[in-house]
Amino acid sequence: MSTGINMTQVKRRNRSLVLKYLNRVGPVSRKDMADAVGLTSASVTNICNELISEGLIQEVGVDDETKGVGRRKVFIDIDYDSRYVIAFNIEADLSTVALCNLAGDVVQKKTVETDKSLSPEDFLKKLSSIAKKIVSGQSDYLKSKISAVSVGIVGPIDKATGVSWHAYGIWENAVEVKDILEKALKLPCYVENNVNAITKATMLLGIGRKYDNLHIIKWGPGVGSTIVINGEIYEGINGRAAELGHVIIEKDGLRCSCGKRGCLETRVSINALNKIAPFEKQDFYKAYINSKAEKRKAFDDAIDIFARSIVNTITLFAPEHVILSGYLFMEDGIRKRVIETCEKYAKTLEKSTIIPNNIMSCEDYIGPVGAYLYEIIK
Ligand SMILES: [Zn+2]
Repeated sequence: MSTGINMTQVKRRNRSLVLKYLNRVGPVSRKDMADAVGLTSASVTNICNELISEGLIQEVGVDDETKGVGRRKVFIDIDYDSRYVIAFNIEADLSTVALCNLAGDVVQKKTVETDKSLSPEDFLKKLSSIAKKIVSGQSDYLKSKISAVSVGIVGPIDKATGVSWHAYGIWENAVEVKDILEKALKLPCYVENNVNAITKATMLLGIGRKYDNLHIIKWGPGVGSTIVINGEIYEGINGRAAELGHVIIEKDGLRCSCGKRGCLETRVSINALNKIAPFEKQDFYKAYINSKAEKRKAFDDAIDIFARSIVNTITLFAPEHVILSGYLFMEDGIRKRVIETCEKYAKTLEKSTIIPNNIMSCEDYIGPVGAYLYEIIK
C-alpha cells in the first residue's frame, strides 16, 4: 500500500523537477536535462511523453550540430500558450481582470475601481461579467485553451477552500471567493494572497528563475512582503511570516489596522502618506517634489523608516536580492530615494542587492498568473 503512495509521490516529484528545470533553463534536450536533474534518460523520456500528450511541453527544434549525425538532439520546452488563465487581482483601490497565457502575456484586460458599495458577492459577480465579456470576444481555439481562474487578493486566505478571511480595506468577513467564481465562470478557481501570488510569479517568471533566496516587498496601498528561502516561500505559522508592514517602528505610535500600535504601515501606507500631502495614484513623486519643505521632510522621514525596516530584514535573512514591487516602488524617483537611504544605513550593501521587480510595472495581474503556473509546476 505505502509503496503505491510513494511511487505516486516520486512520480509527482520527478514531473515537478522536469517542469521546474524547463521553466528555468528551457529549451533543452532530454539528455542534458536528465544529467542536470539527476534522473535517468528513460525516466525523463517517460515524463516528457506524458507532458507532451497533455500539451504542456513541446518539441521546439533540433540542435544544428547534431543534424544528420547519428542520433539528433531534440530540444523541448514548456508551451506557455498551451493554457490560458483568467487572472483576477483584487486590491483595496483597483481590481484587474486579465486573460493571459502561462507566461503572463495579456490577450485582453480591464481595470476597474474596487466598488465597496457592492456586497462582496455582487462585486465578484461584476468582475465575472467583465471576464465573460473578454472571453466572448475570443476565437473558439483560444476559448478551448482557457483552463482556470486564478485570484490574487489582499489579506489572509484559505488556499484549500478558496475563502478570503479578511480582504483589508474591501471586506472584513469570510467570503467564499472560489465557490462564487467557479459557479459564475464554470472553471476551476485558485485563490492566493496577492503578495504570495506576486512572489510565485517572481519565482517562476521573473528574477526568481535565477535566485533562490529573495525578499520581495510590495508597496501599494499598504506594505506586504514575502521571504523565499532555498526556492520555497517561508510561510511561518498560519502563513503569517514576513509581515514587514506590521513591524513596530516607534514607541506609542498610531493604532494600526492589525490592532497593534506603531506599525510601519501607520507611517508609509497610502492613507498615511495622503495625510502628509494628498497625491493622485501614480503621481507620488510629483506630489513629493511639489510639496513644501516641511511636508517633504515628513515624506523623507517616512522613507527613512521604510529603508531602515528593509535593511533590518537584509541583516536577518541575507537574501541574494530584495525585490521592490507595487506601484509606489515603480516610480523611479521614490524607488531611488528608498534604495539610497538603505545604502546610507548599510554601507557594505552591494549596489545590485535591492532591485525593482522586472515582471511588473503597475500591473499586478501577473501575480495570479504566476500562482496558477505554480500550481501546474509544483
Ligand atoms: Zn500593523
